[in-house]
Amino acid sequence: MEIYNTLSRKVEKFQPIKASRTTLYCCGPTVYNFVHIGNLRTFIFYDILKRALRYKGYKPFQVINLTDVDDKTIENSKATGVTLREYTELYTKYFFEDMEKLNIEGADVYPKATDNINEMATIIKSLIKKGYAYEKDDGIYYSIEKFADYGKLSGAKPSTDGVRVKKDEYDKENVADFALWKKWSPEDGEIFWDPGLPKGRPGWHIECSAMSMRYLGETIDIHSGGVDLMFPHHENEIAQSEAYTGKKFVNYWLHPEHLLVNGQKMSKSLKNFYTLRDLEQMGFDPLAFRLLVLDSHYRSRLDFSLESLGKYADTLKRVYIAVYGLDLVKDDGEDQDLNAIERAVDRFDSALDNDLDTHSALVGFFEFVDLANEAIKKKAVSKRYKDELKLAINKMDSVLGLLRVNDVPPDVKAMLAKREEARRRSDWNTADLIRDEIKNKGFDVVDLEGLGPLILKTLN
Ligand SMILES: [Zn+2]
Repeated sequence: MEIYNTLSRKVEKFQPIKASRTTLYCCGPTVYNFVHIGNLRTFIFYDILKRALRYKGYKPFQVINLTDVDDKTIENSKATGVTLREYTELYTKYFFEDMEKLNIEGADVYPKATDNINEMATIIKSLIKKGYAYEKDDGIYYSIEKFADYGKLSGAKPSTDGVRVKKDEYDKENVADFALWKKWSPEDGEIFWDPGLPKGRPGWHIECSAMSMRYLGETIDIHSGGVDLMFPHHENEIAQSEAYTGKKFVNYWLHPEHLLVNGQKMSKSLKNFYTLRDLEQMGFDPLAFRLLVLDSHYRSRLDFSLESLGKYADTLKRVYIAVYGLDLVKDDGEDQDLNAIERAVDRFDSALDNDLDTHSALVGFFEFVDLANEAIKKKAVSKRYKDELKLAINKMDSVLGLLRVNDVPPDVKAMLAKREEARRRSDWNTADLIRDEIKNKGFDVVDLEGLGPLILKTLN
């Protein structure tokens, strides 16, 4: 497998440190609000990355952190008058709901920043001792000029005039010494820790260094995060971690690109800001969004629009008709071209090897969808052919994650039987009424010529 490494700016052969475990740290959500669809693009990429590694025979072990203390979480919890913990637990719950709806398998560990304060303090104390960090009235800062490699990931040029920035988020125009630890001030209220450092709270960047090292080791295989995290967040993570251990922090850095909406950066003021809930309220299936994301390479900007999402929703439905319709195809027919299946799987495999090119992988997947549709038209194929087709689809879907269990509850099955009976009596009105009732229960009836009705669980 070859992947693009931001650190070298080259596509490189992927070689994990250990065969027994591939270590993967992915910067997780700041649980201060509903995540937007730009964040979700990144989280879908993390999922594809993990699934593709496993498909290729590696043994991925994935950590996704939950940032439950930083400038944003504190600000929002104060504005709503609940404790930081209550506030972040609520948005953590919403985050996991979104992950499930998007068929995201999830990480092996989801550490919370607030459960790793002592680990952060240990690193900070050592950085002070080694001369990389210094204390000021309002906090403890990292001196970027002490770290010769500062800027190696993002190309940022360190300033040498000792300018400091206390805020967690700043841009490349403001390269400066950053806060490792922020001393308590009255506006922090009840939010402070006392781990052998002046009473206060951690800066955002140290959180990921501490959790990556604690759960995965001092040097890991892959670290990923949205491209906007490259500077300052990831640059600062490298500076903190490598100064602390004297070892390379991460071998491969992967950065999925931005999602734009109608060609523009998403923002609440432009009214082009969407969460998954917004899309669902408009009647879209979350997995249509997943399909839309997969159809772009992760290193290209993705231009989202509701019109294109509508097209992907239609495509997804066609996929379901082909895949679940295949179950109705009889298996006492003739053998078909087994090589065609193999070719589709080959195309899929090599697309993943080529820097996780999910767009091309989907081309392989859709070749399969065509084969399934041909089998549906034929109404019968050989058992061997049908089995091979199903095997191939499940194999590809172990990476794509587009299928869901198409369970049909008994009451819907009973309704369908009544509809069939009405159709036999040519009572089309009753048949249509029952079809609408079934739709209200969240299922579509698709009549496959010569094979009978197929019931599809739909979310749109
Ligand atoms: Zn991070």
